[in-house]
Amino acid sequence: MHNVVIIGSGPAGLTAALYTARANLAPLLLEGAQAGGQLTLTTDVENYPGFPDGVMGPELIKNMRAQAERFGTTFQTVDVTAVDLRTRPFALTINDEATIHAHAIIIATGASANLLGLPSEMSLMGHGVSTCATCDGFFFRGKEIVVVGGGDSALEEGIFLTKFASKVTMIHRRDTLRASKILQDRAMKNEKMVFRWNSTVEEVLGEQVVQGIRIKDTVTLQNDELPCEGVFIAIGHNPNTSIFQNQIEMDEKGYILTHNGSATNIPGVFAAGDVQDPTYRQAITAAGSGCMAALDAERFLESHD
Ligand code: NAP
Repeated sequence: MHNVVIIGSGPAGLTAALYTARANLAPLLLEGAQAGGQLTLTTDVENYPGFPDGVMGPELIKNMRAQAERFGTTFQTVDVTAVDLRTRPFALTINDEATIHAHAIIIATGASANLLGLPSEMSLMGHGVSTCATCDGFFFRGKEIVVVGGGDSALEEGIFLTKFASKVTMIHRRDTLRASKILQDRAMKNEKMVFRWNSTVEEVLGEQVVQGIRIKDTVTLQNDELPCEGVFIAIGHNPNTSIFQNQIEMDEKGYILTHNGSATNIPGVFAAGDVQDPTYRQAITAAGSGCMAALDAERFLESHD
């Protein structure tokens, strides 16, 4: 039996752990397979306050984790495979085996990368197809690669990948970018980056490893092939809420609905970070909402002895 169990180990979960630990609640944090969340897939973070020269995403997470641990957070690297939120204390099934109970739960499971949905994308995942420039950029030294997407993530990844690749072709389905102006300017000035507008990836080519992509021009409907050795998919994210379906109120995209801070429709269950934020999705807003969830959980536990 735990006072508070935090599910998720990105900035939201780790900040919630820090605050609940400092409130002497001895939190248990379940960190899942992708420990550290999306920041571990990021390179330079230049917009997290307090780091005038920027900080690498994985380093920021490492520091947040150490800070939460210092005040008494217990960590378990396990998957929560089911939850029962109908009665308190709540029950959580771990790795389809053990069950643990908690008086309060903070959901901070974040969001995951979207994919194009092509069979060839899946079969070549890890063999040239990637959703993580930080993890895999190093393997593409001197090679030609493509990045799919037109948002901030796509441009950030594209710019980062020019440190390794000889050429980065951005494939975007429209002729205008969704990304912020500052990233657009940087990308346009980068001599290693070129843009293919109004283009969709129809197939990733190659048997064992990526050898190219087949592209369709959405205006002319012409297909052509572009040789490349890496395909980075950067087309947004989905909230990780499947285990909570039919148990907690969500919007149509599966983001958990919160009100009055971090409260969900179930008293004692709070949500923080990208799992409940389709709008801002920044490390700093996730951390801020993790703090709110911790304070809300603390007040809830106090009012329920
Ligand atoms: P996003 O803003 O939703 O952009 C997704 C991009 O992928 C869009 O350009 C979209 O095209 C394209 N796309 C979506 N589905 C596609 C498909 N099936 N096939 C081809 N293209 C597809 O996602 P994001 O770039 O991951 O950013 C998410 C949020 O995090 C945003 O709010 C962003 O500002 C923020 N963010 C900020 C920073 C930063 O400030 N440094 C860095 C990363 C992310 P359309 O444009 O045609 O819809």
